[in-house]
Parts: sequence; C-alpha cells; structure tokens
Amino acid sequence: VIYFDNASTHKPFDCVVKEINLFNEKHFFNPSALYKEGIDTSKIIERSRKIIADKLGVQSDEIYFTSSATEANNWALLNGFKNKKGNVVISQGEHASVFECGNLLKSKGVEVRWVKLKNDGTIDLEDLDKKIDNDTTLVSVIHASNETGAVNDIKLIGNLIKSKNVKTRFHSDGVAAFCKIDCINSALRDRGCDFYTISSHKVGGPKGVGALYINKKINIGPFIVGGGQERGMRSGTENTGAIIGFSKAVACSCWVHSESEQQNNLARQIHDYIKNTLTQNGWILNGSINNTGYILSLSNPNIKAEILMRLLAEDGILIGLGSACANKLSQNRILNALGATKAHIEGSIRLSFSPLNTMHEAKIVAQKIMEKQKILQGKSIK
Ligand code: PMP
Repeated sequence: VIYFDNASTHKPFDCVVKEINLFNEKHFFNPSALYKEGIDTSKIIERSRKIIADKLGVQSDEIYFTSSATEANNWALLNGFKNKKGNVVISQGEHASVFECGNLLKSKGVEVRWVKLKNDGTIDLEDLDKKIDNDTTLVSVIHASNETGAVNDIKLIGNLIKSKNVKTRFHSDGVAAFCKIDCINSALRDRGCDFYTISSHKVGGPKGVGALYINKKINIGPFIVGGGQERGMRSGTENTGAIIGFSKAVACSCWVHSESEQQNNLARQIHDYIKNTLTQNGWILNGSINNTGYILSLSNPNIKAEILMRLLAEDGILIGLGSACANKLSQNRILNALGATKAHIEGSIRLSFSPLNTMHEAKIVAQKIMEKQKILQGKSIK
C-alpha cells in the first residue's frame, strides 16, 4: 500500500510502538501512586512533557495532556473566553472541533464573528482586523490548514490581535503545523499566542492523546474536574503509554527542526513533484504557495474525486478527499470558504505526506492519478 493520507492519521513509528509496549509492561503503575513505582511513572510523564514543551519553545508547566486535539480545542474555545462575556472571533478555515465550538457558543447566545479566508486558503487579515474590537475576548485562527496545508502567520496575527485589544486571548490549532514547520524559532509566547493545540496521531504517535499549551499568564479554569491530575486542570488517570509514545514520536529526527529543514525536506520534494506534474495535467492547486509541504490539495472539475479515490484504492494507493473526520457537508466547508465551485469541490483530492514516504512512491502515484484521470474524463465525455 502507498499511503498518502497522513493528515488523516499517521502510522505510529516503529520506535513508538516498541516504546509503548515496553512502557506498558514495565511502568503500568498509576502515576499518582506514592510508592516508588508510581513516582517513577510520573517522572517519565514529566520527561515527555518536557520533550513536547521544548519542541514548541515553551515551558513544561504550560503543557496539559488531553485525550485528543478535539478535546484541547474544546477546552480553549469553551473555557478560554474570559468571564464568558464579549464576542468571539473565529476563522472560517477551522477544523470541525473549533468550528462546532463556535456554533455551540453561538447557540448559548455568544456573538461569534467568522473571519473570511482568501482564495489561497489563508485568513483575510483585513477582515480579521475589522472583526476585533474592545469586546473581543477570544480569537481562534488555525496555524496550518488541515485541508490545504496553507500556513497562517500566527506571529503576525498574534501581534495584530494584541495591538487591537491587549486583553483579547489568541488560540491557534497547531495540529497540521506541529513538527511539520519550525515552531521553536517563533516561540508561542513571542507570537502573543495564548493557547495552542497539538495531536499525537498526526505526528507518528498513538491515537487518543493530544495537548493544549496554555500561556502561564492566562487564568483559565479546569476542563475536567476530579482527581486533580494535570495540575488540577484536566482530571482523569493519565493515558501514560500514549503520552510516552507521543513524546517519542515528537523526538523523532525525521521531523522538521529548523527553518532550512522546513524549506527543503523529503515531504516537500514529494509535494512539489506531484504538484508540478498534476498542475501540468489539468489539476488546479487549492491553497497557498506558503504551505507546510505535507498537504497538497488539488482539484480537477472534470472528474469526481470520490470515484478516483476508489479506483486508486483498488490499486493500493490511499489518498484523502478533504478532512477525513468531516462529514460530507462540512467536508466542503473550507474549499467553499475559499470560493471553490461545486464541480471544483467534487473534483478535489487531498494528498498528505510523511517522512516515511519516498520519491519512488510519488512518481507511481502521479502516474496512476493521470492514468485514472484519463479513464474518468473519457467516461464523462461519453
Ligand atoms: N485540528 C486539526 C487541524 C485536525 O486536522 C484534527 C484531526 N483531523 C483535529 C484538530 C482533531 O484531532 P484529534 O483527532 O486528535 O481529535
């Protein structure tokens, strides 16, 4: 199988699986237990927290483990806006786990202002500027789009928000950016970003664990109360093996560590090769030139992408059609927001890459897509 749907979920790295198995055999103890075995387990969790904090350029006690990025986004959005007053500003390019929080807030009477996207998939900064006022308590803008890979300049956005209203809090969903672009050189605190969401299974860790960065200066209530785990902010016995696996994946040397690696890595070479080949053969790029390099969204209005996806799957090539966790309606939401027509949306595919992919695979996939495309276009002409 050639797997080009890594933004849906990434295969856990072999070293991650080994580490989790070893951990579950030897350190299954409850990290809250006061005997040595429990204390040792809790120290291992703290080591994991430090690895993740270092990757983001923040402090360990600003990282809170959650069950998923969905949970982290719910926490930031639903508890993050101060005193539950004022308006909330959210971009139209958000993942469902932020978008639906916006709808929930709206149903509870909160004024939610949606910010437009430009047709390259990034946020419309002029519209953002207009939507923030003295009563804006929270802004949420995705760091990199999980649909198109387009990267928002969250340092610039953070500065813009704070210059309009210093009290406004800024959340960014970093799931599609974390480990794919360099986060250290633009540390979250410097960006004026108060909350940042990440997910383990998008970076070669296990499913069922994510984390929320919360700027130390921010006062936000617990999301889940109970036994007081995660410094009283998110109770529930820690998913210890998954947390260890998450940090092992983050520490993997194949992820991006610097600005130069961000510009030139294998995923980007694969991305550019397929993009160049297919755009010369009738495909249109959705999204920005300023892309993580790990996601490629293309449209061909002359074909039905769902049929193409099935034909490729029969040949052992797995690709995506927009966000895998979205239903049909919201699947189109992002491309719709950047002005795509119905035919364009129905003809859209999402290829997403991993450091485990190869150039050889890229060549096969590009070739196969062109072959199937010919068959499908032939059919639609008849
Ligand atoms: N945000 C983005 C940008 C995502 O792509 C996803 C996963 N599709 C999520 C949040 C939700 O992540 P999780 O599966 O960990 O809940």
